[in-house]
Amino acid sequence: MASSAYVRFLELWAEVADLGQTSSILSWDQETQMPAPGNPARAKLQATLAGLRHEKLTATELGDALERAEGEVPPGSIEAAQLREGRREIERVRRVPRALAKELAEAQTTGHESWRRAREAADFALFRPDLERIFDLKREEARLLAGDQGRPYDALLDGFEPGMTEAQLVPLFATLRERLSPIVRAVRESGVVVDESAAKGRFPREAQLAFGRRVAAAIGFDFTAGRIDLAPHPFCSGLNPNDVRITWRALEHDFRSALFGIMHEAGHGMYEQGLPRQWERTPIGSAVSLGVHESQSRLWENLVGRSRSFWEWCLPVLHEHLPGASGVTLDALWPALNTVKPSLIRVEADPGTYDLHVAVRFELERALFAGDLVVGDLPEAWDARYEELLGLSASSVADGVLQDIHWSFGGFGYFPTYTLGNLIDAQLFVAATAVLGDLDALLRRGEFAPLLAWLRENVHRHGSRWSAGELVERATGKPLAPDDYLAERARLAEEVYGVRA
Ligand code: ZN
Repeated sequence: MASSAYVRFLELWAEVADLGQTSSILSWDQETQMPAPGNPARAKLQATLAGLRHEKLTATELGDALERAEGEVPPGSIEAAQLREGRREIERVRRVPRALAKELAEAQTTGHESWRRAREAADFALFRPDLERIFDLKREEARLLAGDQGRPYDALLDGFEPGMTEAQLVPLFATLRERLSPIVRAVRESGVVVDESAAKGRFPREAQLAFGRRVAAAIGFDFTAGRIDLAPHPFCSGLNPNDVRITWRALEHDFRSALFGIMHEAGHGMYEQGLPRQWERTPIGSAVSLGVHESQSRLWENLVGRSRSFWEWCLPVLHEHLPGASGVTLDALWPALNTVKPSLIRVEADPGTYDLHVAVRFELERALFAGDLVVGDLPEAWDARYEELLGLSASSVADGVLQDIHWSFGGFGYFPTYTLGNLIDAQLFVAATAVLGDLDALLRRGEFAPLLAWLRENVHRHGSRWSAGELVERATGKPLAPDDYLAERARLAEEVYGVRA
């Protein structure tokens, strides 16, 4: 029997969750529907909502209910998990004074604008003063969040990947560098160049959308509880399990961009649709971490969507929807989906080189927070690391240090979650294969339901009941490690390029 303090805590929390959902609807609307002149009014509206949410989270009544309930619920129970997650969020908000939060929000708004202008003009100096201010404010925020015991950069990681620390990430990235760099080098030295023409041609956007929708529905995205809209950047907005919105964009000359973008966002969306409905509007009703979220999108995009067996099912579907690809064969197409080709832009990078892009950002962020690097030296440091890890340097800062939006909104600690997603999805896929048997045979027949059901059972339905680390260990029987992922990368390099590294 739940205590009255616990019941009250959940009642109050539901309002906090509702404000979060409202803000998400407004963001989705802003990206997909709103006329651009609506921007200033929308920014004010969002600020008001953020203020209300802050008030509710720091209200004495919520804090009191939490404290009383903590003394009453059994350790290890669902109730205890609710309070743990609730306290985590409340503590994060409590530790940052209102004035600092406000200053950060303003710095991010101006920073976003100057980042956009700097990128257009390919001139870091236009962004530098704002980035310096954002970095200083984030460092202050991180110091407050970390308290006396913790480490500032860990406190920022914690905002995206609860429980993850720099100390855990350093050896992971060292291993990835050590094992991925030789693969990239061996591929380059092999002289093998994959012919990517099978993915290219002229493909009308409407036809690409119909194709993407068909594939998304086939793998399990529920369009009766979701929708897809055009947007400048693909994203997924999970308002609640019954209302999940994904977005897409297309290149007319290459169908990979839209298709894999849609499979990626559908993967995020299926996670949101599979979150436990009985815990809606409660602390553990939402996704556990960005890394786990990213594992769900990448699993469908990369491990399913780029596999040969999937394309045995998908090729006729491609032919049906995109007449421009009617002559494409499996043998011609498959290598073009699994290239290892160093490039400058992270969001366009192939899965074979993607983690090296993340490694660059992780190293730079660590150096910044350790005081070994100042914001003004970022462009040179960026280029040096790209040269070292990918063998390339950008001729313009627009394709270098200014390419990503993240630092303009103060998103330090965000990038590593992309790579965590890769490691987690590979480990989940191996574990699912062990249970489901011949997964390739299922994919070949277009039977995706068993895989989705396994993910529902082992990942989605738990919400934030367990930490990400515990969730992975429970689902796969071992702690998170890079081995399954690296084995997959080595196997693909051998199959596509005939190289062993
Ligand atoms: Zn994603």
